[in-house]
Amino acid sequence: MIKYHPTEELLTQFSQGALPATLSIAVSAHIELCDCCRSKVESLESANADTLFTTLEDDIEQDDFSSLFAQITSSDDIDIPKAYVPKTLEYQNRTVALPRAIANMKRGNFVQLGKLSRSRLQLDDGELRASLLQIGAGGEIPHHTHTGFELTLLLDGEFSDERGSYVPGDFIWLDGRHHHSPATQSGCLCFTVVNSALHFNKGLSKLLNPIGNLIY
Ligand SMILES: [Zn+2]
Repeated sequence: MIKYHPTEELLTQFSQGALPATLSIAVSAHIELCDCCRSKVESLESANADTLFTTLEDDIEQDDFSSLFAQITSSDDIDIPKAYVPKTLEYQNRTVALPRAIANMKRGNFVQLGKLSRSRLQLDDGELRASLLQIGAGGEIPHHTHTGFELTLLLDGEFSDERGSYVPGDFIWLDGRHHHSPATQSGCLCFTVVNSALHFNKGLSKLLNPIGNLIY
């Protein structure tokens, strides 16, 4: 069962379309996997719509409002949504259906370093960088903390760190207050958003820099 969810604040900003693109993709992908957050977002969106219409009603004369609706409803453009065919990704001899929000984004090829490999989303979102990150069976990321934040959405497989173990759908937001060394026994695929380099606490940072560069 999913234990880690976006905060109420993040869900509210998402429902208002106020998040940067990478974070919006992350929340959108989480709510594809989490019934609980999906229904929260639906309520927030309908509350937003109510507020908007109340404001509109206050601003527009009743006659204008009726004619506005008449115009909208008289349109002959019928929107027939195309059936969505889920996109899958083959990794580590497994096949996983990617959340729609991620599947639709352009990505670079996977770049590998030991048991880690990363495919970056081709999205210009300032300092925020989003990637698909795989860790092979028995792999780990050396002990580190974060100079900014690190958001991990587990998409497939499992991993654990000092705080516990995670299942697909878990939305894990960490920052400079957290130190951890995530490790997986059977391998995993994650979606990550980071806004700054990792800071490795142990070992020779020079040797670990390539890993940091791979993740950020
Ligand atoms: Zn959730």
